[in-house]
Amino acid sequence: MANTEKQAGDHVDARCTRCREITNHTIVAMVEERPARVRCNTCGGDHNYRPPRQVKAAKAATKGVKPARRTAADRRREAQQEEWREAAGQADPGLTVAYNMERSFRLEDLVDHPVFGVGVVKAIFKPNKVEVLFASGTKALRCKL
Ligand SMILES: [Zn+2]
Repeated sequence: MANTEKQAGDHVDARCTRCREITNHTIVAMVEERPARVRCNTCGGDHNYRPPRQVKAAKAATKGVKPARRTAADRRREAQQEEWREAAGQADPGLTVAYNMERSFRLEDLVDHPVFGVGVVKAIFKPNKVEVLFASGTKALRCKL
């Protein structure tokens, strides 16, 4: 006689297709030393034995796909980038003015900065600053008014 740990009539934890979770099952039929057919003790349904371990692996896999929570700072940055794309992303190079702290700017001027690229003037602060929205965010730059 085979010396098996489990046999028909024993209880085993298994994944139930109807309950969609790990439930206690009664083994209906064994194939060699493994349960083959089981009956769910919760819903009474017969089905092939599915080891509970597979469910854990599947759950872990879906957890990894979950997108990270976006913070308020992320949304603000995205809104700024969207605003920049609309205002300066398609800017005609002929319409931009090279940034120079000795010159003056008006609101909505397109500024070409050697480091930050093309930006749009969003605010003017007396006596000598402009706030420019670049692809990387807003920067306060010196200028003449
Ligand atoms: Zn069930």
